[in-house]
Amino acid sequence: MPMTGELFIVSGPSGAGKGTLLAKVLPELDDIALTVSATTRKPRKGEREGTEYYFLSEKEFIDLIESGGFLEWARVHSAYYGTLKSEVERHRQAGQDVVLEIDTQGAAQVRAQDPSAVLVFIAPPDLKTLQQRLVGRDSDHPQEIARRLETAQREMERIPDYDFVVVNDDLDAAAAQLLQFIQAKRDTVSN
Ligand code: 5GP
Repeated sequence: MPMTGELFIVSGPSGAGKGTLLAKVLPELDDIALTVSATTRKPRKGEREGTEYYFLSEKEFIDLIESGGFLEWARVHSAYYGTLKSEVERHRQAGQDVVLEIDTQGAAQVRAQDPSAVLVFIAPPDLKTLQQRLVGRDSDHPQEIARRLETAQREMERIPDYDFVVVNDDLDAAAAQLLQFIQAKRDTVSN
């Protein structure tokens, strides 16, 4: 796939606040788009097809793997997640920089294909806070929350692979740091 424009990858444990931070920061920037991933997990309450994710069956997902439809894909927690090449291409053709909100396995796959991809990790202040956020979100079963906490610990071990880490303690401060980092990276590239 021809890679033009900046590719930002945002990872971090479930509940670290990646979605909330991106929702705050991206409207402040021009010509940048968050891709919608495909997943086999069931929609949470309020999630809509094509907005949060493209919700696929396992068969549909595996067919897409086999036909080479994914830039990267991974099994995270108990479902498949993947970035559709068509989504990235669509934004690239519109002249936009692209943001992928994906797990650490997917980030490593993309970086292997495109070493210029910029990797940002959103970390919770600590695991206790993460647990409280996951419980407070009230969207997953206790067993799923336990699984997400386990994955979180494994993901935090990948922090050294990342270019920039934002500790999401205070939302406004974290958003300001993320915005500043993205702006600085884009300025470096365009100059
Ligand atoms: P959630 O189920 O909470 O929406 O997402 C669970 C995890 O899957 C998060 O860590 C999220 O970053 C990751 N994820 C979402 N979309 C993708 C994707 O397209 N590829 C990969 N590798 N991970 C993804």
